[in-house]
Amino acid sequence: MVRTILHVDMDAFYAAVEQRDHPEYRGKPVVVGSDPKNGKGRGIVATCSYEARKFGVHSAQPISQAWKLCPHGIYVRPDMQKYARVSARIMRILAGFTDLLEQVSIDEAFLDVSGSRRLFGTGTEIAVKIKYRIYNDLSLTASVGVAQNKFIAKIASDLQKPDGLVVVETGREKEFLAPLAIGRLWGVGPKTEAYLKSLGVERIGQLADLPPGNSVSRMGKAGMHLLRLARGIDDRPVLPEEGFKSIGHEITFDSDTTDPELLKKTLLELTERVAQRLRKNKACARTVAIKFRESDFSTSSRRTTLDSPADTVEVIFPVAVKLMKSLLRHDVPVRLIGVHTGNLELEEDGKQMSFFDRAPRKDRKLAAAMDDIVQRFGGNAITRAALVSPKKPPQNK
Ligand SMILES: [Mg+2]
Repeated sequence: MVRTILHVDMDAFYAAVEQRDHPEYRGKPVVVGSDPKNGKGRGIVATCSYEARKFGVHSAQPISQAWKLCPHGIYVRPDMQKYARVSARIMRILAGFTDLLEQVSIDEAFLDVSGSRRLFGTGTEIAVKIKYRIYNDLSLTASVGVAQNKFIAKIASDLQKPDGLVVVETGREKEFLAPLAIGRLWGVGPKTEAYLKSLGVERIGQLADLPPGNSVSRMGKAGMHLLRLARGIDDRPVLPEEGFKSIGHEITFDSDTTDPELLKKTLLELTERVAQRLRKNKACARTVAIKFRESDFSTSSRRTTLDSPADTVEVIFPVAVKLMKSLLRHDVPVRLIGVHTGNLELEEDGKQMSFFDRAPRKDRKLAAAMDDIVQRFGGNAITRAALVSPKKPPQNK
Protein backbone atom coordinates (compact mmCIF):
# COMPACT_ATOMS: atom_id res chain seq x y z
CA MET A 1 0.00 0.00 0.00
CA VAL A 2 1.29 3.46 -0.83
CA ARG A 3 1.66 5.48 2.36
CA THR A 4 0.85 9.15 2.86
CA ILE A 5 3.41 10.85 5.07
CA LEU A 6 3.40 14.47 6.19
CA HIS A 7 6.35 16.39 7.57
CA VAL A 8 5.24 19.44 9.53
CA ASP A 9 7.89 22.01 10.42
CA MET A 10 7.21 25.33 12.12
CA ASP A 11 8.70 28.42 10.45
CA ALA A 12 11.50 30.16 12.40
CA PHE A 13 9.78 28.76 15.47
CA TYR A 14 11.29 30.62 18.46
CA ALA A 15 11.48 33.90 16.56
CA ALA A 16 7.92 33.50 15.29
CA VAL A 17 6.64 32.96 18.83
CA GLU A 18 8.46 36.10 20.00
CA GLN A 19 7.07 38.14 17.11
CA ARG A 20 3.61 36.85 17.87
CA ASP A 21 3.88 37.81 21.53
CA HIS A 22 5.60 41.17 20.90
CA PRO A 23 3.83 43.05 18.10
CA GLU A 24 6.65 45.61 18.15
CA TYR A 25 9.04 42.87 16.89
CA ARG A 26 6.97 42.12 13.80
CA GLY A 27 8.54 42.89 10.44
CA LYS A 28 11.89 43.34 12.15
CA PRO A 29 15.04 41.22 12.37
CA VAL A 30 14.67 39.18 15.56
CA VAL A 31 17.54 36.98 16.73
CA VAL A 32 16.78 34.45 19.46
CA GLY A 33 19.91 33.19 21.15
CA SER A 34 22.56 33.97 23.67
CA ASP A 35 23.48 37.46 24.83
CA PRO A 36 25.46 39.15 22.00
CA LYS A 37 27.23 41.40 24.55
CA ASN A 38 27.80 44.08 21.92
CA GLY A 39 29.50 41.60 19.64
CA LYS A 40 31.58 39.96 22.36
CA GLY A 41 29.11 37.19 23.25
CA ARG A 42 30.32 33.63 22.80
CA GLY A 43 27.07 31.72 22.35
CA ILE A 44 25.11 30.97 19.23
CA VAL A 45 21.93 31.92 17.39
CA ALA A 46 19.11 29.50 18.21
CA THR A 47 16.65 30.84 15.62
CA CYS A 48 16.13 34.11 13.80
CA SER A 49 13.25 35.72 11.97
CA TYR A 50 13.12 35.80 8.18
CA GLU A 51 13.86 39.53 8.34
CA ALA A 52 17.16 38.69 10.08
CA ARG A 53 18.01 36.00 7.53
CA LYS A 54 18.16 38.70 4.85
CA PHE A 55 21.30 39.97 6.60
CA GLY A 56 22.93 36.54 6.51
CA VAL A 57 22.03 35.61 10.07
CA HIS A 58 21.17 31.94 10.55
CA SER A 59 20.72 29.40 13.33
CA ALA A 60 23.82 27.81 14.92
CA GLN A 61 25.86 30.84 13.86
CA PRO A 62 28.08 32.42 16.52
CA ILE A 63 26.13 35.28 18.08
CA SER A 64 29.14 37.57 17.64
CA GLN A 65 28.97 37.05 13.89
CA ALA A 66 25.23 37.69 13.85
CA TRP A 67 25.91 40.94 15.69
CA LYS A 68 28.39 42.02 13.04
CA LEU A 69 25.94 41.25 10.24
CA CYS A 70 22.92 42.74 11.94
CA PRO A 71 23.82 45.11 14.80
CA HIS A 72 20.41 46.80 14.74
CA GLY A 73 18.53 43.49 15.20
CA ILE A 74 16.38 42.69 18.21
CA TYR A 75 18.29 40.17 20.33
CA VAL A 76 16.10 38.02 22.56
CA ARG A 77 17.04 35.34 25.11
CA PRO A 78 15.21 32.05 24.53
CA ASP A 79 12.24 31.22 26.72
CA MET A 80 12.34 27.44 26.38
CA GLN A 81 9.43 26.86 28.73
CA LYS A 82 7.19 29.04 26.64
CA TYR A 83 8.30 27.32 23.41
CA ALA A 84 7.70 23.91 24.98
CA ARG A 85 4.15 24.95 25.91
CA VAL A 86 3.46 26.14 22.36
CA SER A 87 5.02 22.95 21.00
CA ALA A 88 2.72 20.80 23.15
CA ARG A 89 -0.30 22.59 21.66
CA ILE A 90 0.99 22.06 18.13
CA MET A 91 1.55 18.35 18.78
CA ARG A 92 -1.97 18.06 20.19
CA ILE A 93 -3.37 19.52 16.97
CA LEU A 94 -1.33 17.05 14.92
CA ALA A 95 -2.38 14.12 17.11
CA GLY A 96 -5.98 14.88 16.16
CA PHE A 97 -5.25 13.66 12.64
CA THR A 98 -3.48 10.36 13.30
CA ASP A 99 -2.10 8.12 16.02
CA LEU A 100 1.03 7.63 13.94
CA LEU A 101 2.75 10.84 15.02
CA GLU A 102 6.51 11.04 15.52
CA GLN A 103 7.80 14.23 17.07
CA VAL A 104 11.31 14.86 15.78
CA SER A 105 12.11 18.06 17.63
CA ILE A 106 10.36 20.84 19.48
CA ASP A 107 8.81 22.20 16.27
CA GLU A 108 8.81 19.32 13.84
CA ALA A 109 6.93 16.05 13.36
CA PHE A 110 6.16 13.27 10.92
CA LEU A 111 2.62 12.00 10.50
CA ASP A 112 1.55 8.83 8.74
CA VAL A 113 -1.99 9.68 7.65
CA SER A 114 -2.50 6.63 5.41
CA GLY A 115 -5.30 5.44 7.68
CA SER A 116 -6.83 8.88 8.17
CA ARG A 117 -7.73 9.68 4.58
CA ARG A 118 -11.26 8.33 4.78
CA LEU A 119 -11.93 10.56 7.77
CA PHE A 120 -10.02 13.72 6.85
CA GLY A 121 -9.41 13.63 3.10
CA THR A 122 -6.26 13.34 0.98
CA GLY A 123 -2.80 14.07 2.28
CA THR A 124 -2.98 17.51 0.72
CA GLU A 125 -6.34 18.24 2.33
CA ILE A 126 -5.04 17.12 5.71
CA ALA A 127 -1.97 19.34 5.27
CA VAL A 128 -4.21 22.35 4.54
CA LYS A 129 -6.35 21.58 7.60
CA ILE A 130 -3.28 21.31 9.82
CA LYS A 131 -1.83 24.60 8.56
CA TYR A 132 -5.18 26.29 9.09
CA ARG A 133 -5.60 24.91 12.62
CA ILE A 134 -2.09 25.98 13.65
CA TYR A 135 -2.59 29.46 12.25
CA ASN A 136 -6.08 29.85 13.61
CA ASP A 137 -5.36 28.54 17.12
CA LEU A 138 -1.79 29.72 17.63
CA SER A 139 -1.19 32.54 15.10
CA LEU A 140 1.89 30.73 13.80
CA THR A 141 2.74 29.34 10.39
CA ALA A 142 3.98 25.86 9.56
CA SER A 143 5.42 24.42 6.37
CA VAL A 144 4.27 20.98 5.32
CA GLY A 145 5.65 18.39 2.93
CA VAL A 146 3.41 15.59 1.66
CA ALA A 147 4.88 12.47 0.07
CA GLN A 148 4.88 8.70 0.30
CA ASN A 149 7.89 8.51 2.60
CA LYS A 150 9.64 10.43 5.36
CA PHE A 151 12.69 11.44 3.41
CA ILE A 152 10.78 13.08 0.57
CA ALA A 153 8.25 14.68 2.92
CA LYS A 154 11.09 16.21 4.94
CA ILE A 155 12.76 17.71 1.89
CA ALA A 156 9.41 18.94 0.56
CA SER A 157 8.52 20.80 3.75
CA ASP A 158 11.72 22.82 3.45
CA LEU A 159 11.34 23.93 -0.16
CA GLN A 160 8.76 26.71 0.11
CA LYS A 161 9.33 28.09 3.56
CA PRO A 162 7.75 30.02 5.19
CA ASP A 163 4.09 28.99 5.12
CA GLY A 164 4.88 26.37 2.47
CA LEU A 165 2.95 23.38 1.20
CA VAL A 166 4.75 21.06 -1.21
CA VAL A 167 3.13 17.85 -2.39
CA VAL A 168 5.18 15.20 -4.19
CA GLU A 169 2.91 12.83 -6.05
CA THR A 170 3.56 9.11 -5.94
CA GLY A 171 5.73 8.05 -8.86
CA ARG A 172 7.35 11.47 -9.24
CA GLU A 173 9.86 11.17 -6.39
CA LYS A 174 12.91 10.69 -8.60
CA GLU A 175 11.96 13.58 -10.80
CA PHE A 176 11.38 15.77 -7.74
CA LEU A 177 14.77 14.96 -6.24
CA ALA A 178 16.87 15.06 -9.42
CA PRO A 179 17.66 18.80 -9.54
CA LEU A 180 18.40 19.15 -5.83
CA ALA A 181 21.94 19.46 -4.45
CA ILE A 182 23.34 16.23 -2.98
CA GLY A 183 23.91 17.99 0.36
CA ARG A 184 20.16 17.64 0.94
CA LEU A 185 20.40 13.87 1.17
CA TRP A 186 20.17 12.51 4.70
CA GLY A 187 23.49 11.23 5.86
CA VAL A 188 25.60 13.31 3.51
CA GLY A 189 28.09 15.20 5.63
CA PRO A 190 30.84 17.47 4.33
CA LYS A 191 33.23 14.53 3.77
CA THR A 192 30.80 12.46 1.74
CA GLU A 193 29.76 15.57 -0.14
CA ALA A 194 33.36 16.30 -1.11
CA TYR A 195 33.83 12.69 -2.18
CA LEU A 196 30.68 12.70 -4.33
CA LYS A 197 31.70 15.99 -5.91
CA SER A 198 35.08 14.49 -6.74
CA LEU A 199 33.12 11.91 -8.74
CA GLY A 200 31.34 14.74 -10.55
CA VAL A 201 28.11 14.17 -8.62
CA GLU A 202 26.55 17.51 -7.62
CA ARG A 203 22.82 16.80 -7.97
CA ILE A 204 20.74 14.01 -6.49
CA GLY A 205 19.69 12.95 -10.00
CA GLN A 206 23.31 12.32 -10.98
CA LEU A 207 23.72 10.04 -7.98
CA ALA A 208 20.54 8.13 -8.82
CA ASP A 209 21.71 7.62 -12.39
CA LEU A 210 25.17 6.20 -11.61
CA PRO A 211 25.62 2.90 -13.48
CA PRO A 212 25.49 -0.40 -11.54
CA GLY A 213 28.73 -1.29 -9.77
CA ASN A 214 29.61 2.38 -9.30
CA SER A 215 32.02 3.48 -6.62
CA VAL A 216 29.23 4.71 -4.32
CA SER A 217 27.63 1.26 -4.23
CA ARG A 218 31.07 -0.09 -3.38
CA MET A 219 31.03 2.11 -0.24
CA GLY A 220 29.01 -0.70 1.34
CA LYS A 221 25.84 -0.29 3.38
CA ALA A 222 26.10 3.48 3.67
CA GLY A 223 26.57 3.83 -0.08
CA MET A 224 23.60 1.62 -0.88
CA HIS A 225 21.52 3.64 1.55
CA LEU A 226 22.43 6.86 -0.23
CA LEU A 227 21.60 5.38 -3.63
CA ARG A 228 18.21 4.25 -2.39
CA LEU A 229 17.45 7.70 -1.00
CA ALA A 230 18.60 9.32 -4.25
CA ARG A 231 16.06 7.15 -6.07
CA GLY A 232 13.39 8.28 -3.63
CA ILE A 233 13.17 4.98 -1.76
CA ASP A 234 12.76 5.16 2.03
CA ASP A 235 10.79 2.52 3.91
CA ARG A 236 11.32 3.79 7.42
CA PRO A 237 8.09 3.83 9.43
CA VAL A 238 6.73 6.78 11.36
CA LEU A 239 7.42 5.77 14.96
CA PRO A 240 5.07 7.12 17.63
CA GLU A 241 6.61 8.17 20.94
CA GLU A 242 5.51 5.23 23.04
CA GLY A 243 7.66 2.97 20.91
CA PHE A 244 11.12 2.04 22.18
CA LYS A 245 12.88 4.47 19.92
CA SER A 246 15.21 5.72 22.58
CA ILE A 247 15.66 5.82 26.31
CA GLY A 248 17.31 8.79 27.95
CA HIS A 249 17.52 10.98 30.99
CA GLU A 250 18.62 14.55 31.36
CA ILE A 251 18.95 16.97 34.20
CA THR A 252 19.21 20.74 34.56
CA PHE A 253 21.62 21.81 37.30
CA ASP A 254 20.33 24.10 40.04
CA SER A 255 23.16 26.42 39.13
CA ASP A 256 25.39 26.14 36.08
CA THR A 257 28.60 24.26 36.71
CA THR A 258 32.12 23.84 35.36
CA ASP A 259 33.08 21.23 37.97
CA PRO A 260 34.29 18.14 36.08
CA GLU A 261 33.76 15.83 39.09
CA LEU A 262 30.16 16.96 39.53
CA LEU A 263 29.54 16.53 35.82
CA LYS A 264 31.00 13.04 35.89
CA LYS A 265 29.02 12.04 38.97
CA THR A 266 25.81 13.36 37.43
CA LEU A 267 26.57 11.55 34.22
CA LEU A 268 26.96 8.32 36.16
CA GLU A 269 23.62 8.78 37.88
CA LEU A 270 21.91 9.46 34.58
CA THR A 271 23.57 6.43 33.01
CA GLU A 272 22.41 4.26 35.92
CA ARG A 273 18.84 5.32 35.35
CA VAL A 274 19.06 4.80 31.62
CA ALA A 275 20.59 1.33 32.02
CA GLN A 276 17.91 0.36 34.54
CA ARG A 277 15.19 1.41 32.15
CA LEU A 278 16.82 -0.48 29.30
CA ARG A 279 16.85 -3.66 31.38
CA LYS A 280 13.32 -3.12 32.62
CA ASN A 281 12.21 -2.86 29.00
CA LYS A 282 14.36 -5.84 28.02
CA ALA A 283 16.20 -3.68 25.53
CA CYS A 284 19.81 -3.17 24.53
CA ALA A 285 21.09 0.04 22.99
CA ARG A 286 23.26 0.25 19.93
CA THR A 287 23.96 3.97 20.21
CA VAL A 288 24.82 6.28 23.08
CA ALA A 289 24.49 10.04 22.91
CA ILE A 290 25.33 12.87 25.24
CA LYS A 291 23.44 16.13 25.26
CA PHE A 292 24.92 19.29 26.62
CA ARG A 293 23.42 22.69 27.18
CA GLU A 294 25.71 25.52 28.11
CA SER A 295 24.69 28.45 30.27
CA ASP A 296 23.73 30.53 27.23
CA PHE A 297 21.33 27.78 26.07
CA SER A 298 23.47 26.72 23.15
CA THR A 299 22.94 23.01 22.90
CA SER A 300 25.09 20.33 21.38
CA SER A 301 25.07 16.59 21.30
CA ARG A 302 27.33 13.82 20.19
CA ARG A 303 26.60 10.17 19.62
CA THR A 304 28.51 7.01 18.96
CA THR A 305 27.73 3.42 18.06
CA LEU A 306 28.71 0.69 20.49
CA ASP A 307 30.70 -2.34 19.40
CA SER A 308 27.78 -4.47 20.48
CA PRO A 309 24.37 -3.59 21.98
CA ALA A 310 24.50 -2.98 25.72
CA ASP A 311 22.27 -2.43 28.76
CA THR A 312 24.85 -2.06 31.52
CA VAL A 313 26.51 0.91 33.17
CA GLU A 314 29.89 -0.79 32.79
CA VAL A 315 29.68 -0.55 29.03
CA ILE A 316 27.69 2.66 28.57
CA PHE A 317 29.31 4.92 31.17
CA PRO A 318 32.90 4.94 29.84
CA VAL A 319 31.54 5.73 26.38
CA ALA A 320 29.39 8.51 27.84
CA VAL A 321 32.41 9.98 29.63
CA LYS A 322 34.42 10.00 26.44
CA LEU A 323 31.60 11.79 24.61
CA MET A 324 31.23 14.28 27.43
CA LYS A 325 34.90 15.12 27.34
CA SER A 326 34.67 15.81 23.63
CA LEU A 327 31.88 18.33 24.26
CA LEU A 328 33.12 19.98 27.43
CA ARG A 329 34.65 23.39 26.80
CA HIS A 330 37.11 24.81 29.25
CA ASP A 331 35.48 27.21 31.71
CA VAL A 332 32.12 27.23 29.93
CA PRO A 333 29.40 26.53 32.53
CA VAL A 334 27.03 23.68 31.80
CA ARG A 335 23.33 24.12 32.42
CA LEU A 336 21.97 20.73 31.38
CA ILE A 337 23.40 17.33 30.69
CA GLY A 338 21.67 14.26 29.28
CA VAL A 339 22.39 10.66 28.35
CA HIS A 340 20.38 9.10 25.58
CA THR A 341 20.50 5.61 24.14
CA GLY A 342 19.00 4.67 20.83
CA ASN A 343 18.73 2.07 18.09
CA LEU A 344 17.31 -0.28 20.65
CA GLU A 345 17.14 -4.01 20.19
CA LEU A 346 14.33 -5.70 22.03
CA GLU A 347 14.31 -9.13 23.52
CA GLU A 348 11.60 -10.96 21.68
CA ASP A 349 9.01 -13.14 23.36
CA GLY A 350 10.25 -16.56 24.17
CA LYS A 351 13.64 -16.21 22.56
CA GLN A 352 16.73 -14.69 24.01
CA MET A 353 18.49 -12.29 21.81
CA SER A 354 22.12 -12.60 21.03
CA PHE A 355 23.06 -9.64 23.24
CA PHE A 356 22.74 -11.89 26.27
CA ASP A 357 25.70 -13.76 24.99
CA ARG A 358 27.59 -10.66 24.01
CA ALA A 359 27.26 -8.69 27.24
CA PRO A 360 29.86 -9.84 29.75
CA ARG A 361 28.15 -12.21 32.16
CA LYS A 362 29.69 -10.57 35.22
CA ASP A 363 28.20 -7.18 34.23
CA ARG A 364 24.78 -8.66 33.76
CA LYS A 365 24.83 -10.42 37.12
CA LEU A 366 25.92 -7.26 38.89
CA ALA A 367 23.32 -5.26 37.02
CA ALA A 368 20.56 -7.62 38.09
CA ALA A 369 21.65 -7.34 41.72
CA MET A 370 21.75 -3.54 41.49
CA ASP A 371 18.25 -3.43 40.00
CA ASP A 372 17.10 -5.45 42.94
CA ILE A 373 18.61 -3.05 45.47
CA VAL A 374 17.30 0.00 43.65
CA GLN A 375 13.85 -1.50 43.62
CA ARG A 376 13.95 -2.08 47.37
CA PHE A 377 15.74 1.02 48.57
CA GLY A 378 15.26 3.60 45.83
CA GLY A 379 17.68 5.11 43.34
CA ASN A 380 20.08 6.71 45.81
CA ALA A 381 20.77 3.63 47.88
CA ILE A 382 23.91 2.85 45.96
CA THR A 383 26.45 4.79 44.06
CA ARG A 384 29.34 3.41 42.17
CA ALA A 385 32.02 5.60 43.61
CA ALA A 386 34.66 3.54 41.88
CA LEU A 387 33.32 4.57 38.51
CA VAL A 388 33.42 8.27 39.34
CA SER A 389 36.98 8.42 40.63
CA PRO A 390 38.49 5.14 39.55
CA LYS A 391 41.96 4.01 40.62
CA LYS A 392 42.13 2.35 37.27
CA PRO A 393 39.70 3.08 34.42
CA PRO A 394 36.61 0.86 34.27
CA GLN A 395 36.93 -1.99 31.84
CA ASN A 396 35.00 -1.63 28.64
CA LYS A 397 35.08 -5.14 27.25
MG1 LIG B 1 11.40 24.59 12.10
